[in-house]
Amino acid sequence: MNPTIGIIGGGAAGLFAALHAARTTCEVILWEANPTLGRKLAVTGGGRGNLSHRGLGADRYACDAPESLHALLHRFNHDWLRRELLEQGVLTYCSDDGWCYPVSHSAAAVSAILATAVAQHHVMVSTGCRITAVKKIGDGFMVRDDLGGGRTVQRLIVATGGKAHPQLGGDDDALAWLAELGVTVRPMRPALAPLIAEVRALHKLQGVRLDVAAELYGNGLLLGRSTGNLIFTQFGLNGPAAMDLSHLVHASPLQPMQLLLNFLPHHLDAFMTLVRQKRKQGWPLQALLESALPAKLAALIARGIGAPLDQDVAALTEEQSSRLVSLLTAFPIAVIGVKGFHHAQLAAGGVPLSEIDTATMECRGVQGLFLAGEVLDVVGPCGGFNLHFAFASGALAGIGAGRL
Ligand SMILES: Cc1cc2nc3c(=O)[nH]c(=O)nc-3n(C[C@H](O)[C@H](O)[C@H](O)COP(=O)(O)OP(=O)(O)OC[C@H]3O[C@@H](n4cnc5c(N)ncnc54)[C@H](O)[C@@H]3O)c2cc1C
Repeated sequence: MNPTIGIIGGGAAGLFAALHAARTTCEVILWEANPTLGRKLAVTGGGRGNLSHRGLGADRYACDAPESLHALLHRFNHDWLRRELLEQGVLTYCSDDGWCYPVSHSAAAVSAILATAVAQHHVMVSTGCRITAVKKIGDGFMVRDDLGGGRTVQRLIVATGGKAHPQLGGDDDALAWLAELGVTVRPMRPALAPLIAEVRALHKLQGVRLDVAAELYGNGLLLGRSTGNLIFTQFGLNGPAAMDLSHLVHASPLQPMQLLLNFLPHHLDAFMTLVRQKRKQGWPLQALLESALPAKLAALIARGIGAPLDQDVAALTEEQSSRLVSLLTAFPIAVIGVKGFHHAQLAAGGVPLSEIDTATMECRGVQGLFLAGEVLDVVGPCGGFNLHFAFASGALAGIGAGRL
């Protein structure tokens, strides 16, 4: 008799696992705690659904088995995902910077299309049904739900996601029964979350948004780099450039933590040429700074070098000029912490990827148990990397679990 495949979690990973498992001759059951499938997927990318990234590569993720991740993403790459989505009826395109979206600009539509596809593939779906316990019995698993039901399955795919956005149902309950099954689990912590920073002296910058390159240091040691949009907020820093570094803050004991911001990552040379020209033409500092920076930031930098905004650029001392370059390219901000799970787009932690055979997504220590998506300790940056990993690992788990 063909094995029955149970899938816990109907997010991006669980939906793709179900679609791929259903292509086999196995019976497939999908349990989802929320009243609808793909609830988190439906709000991703600010409602637009940033589904993948053209520049996908294992080097963009943090995990403990980068070579295994490389093999997985090589097989289930960006083009593969776009073909799979197209097959289900989701047209996609990439922006100039490689971020991949549905042509509909509707993450909710993608979620609804995938849910329909799963139903059409004769997957038995139970929504509003939370799995509360999983036990290994013989060569299968006994799965119990919060409605008092129980079911035995021969293969089990755990795609329960992580703790980010508990307001959408994110939690880490699965880690308790995974640990009981003998799987190594790491506590979850917020990732892709805004940074809490010492911004008292920067309060006038609230709302300022610009592209930066950022470096995070712990006790003087470089922990990570990011580039992208940054937004100054009441409590610190938001936007991809800050969020992409957030998982490193809790991961490291090194204190104090400091961010160095380069406000001119792409335009420093052009700016310095302008400085040399305007020195000869007697330009005011304000006009020079505002040629490249938002006005509020220009005013702060001028204060930082101790020069009034109406000062002639030619009158800057050598010390002021070198301080100007230093503030423009390595502006220091003390990092105090990270916003909590309510504000995070991802959870770091969960099951280390090294516990998984990435040829099938089967757990090395527990035969018949497969894991996919955010329940695994794999952290990608903003830009579609995390949904891609969820879709790719979900597909692989579905194929792996369906092997006879
Ligand atoms: C606001 C927001 C915006 C985001 N935007 C993007 C983006 O644009 N691009 C991108 O790449 N990533 C984005 N992400 C991250 C992305 O959503 C996740 O990487 C992805 O959803 C992970 O998919 P998953 O299937 O592993 O987990 P989930 O999508 O969280 O799905 C897990 C499912 O399992 C269910 N579940 C959990 N426990 C149980 C249980 N015991 N019994 C039954 N069901 C259970 C949950 O209800 C949930 O539906 C965003 C995240 C958030 C919060």
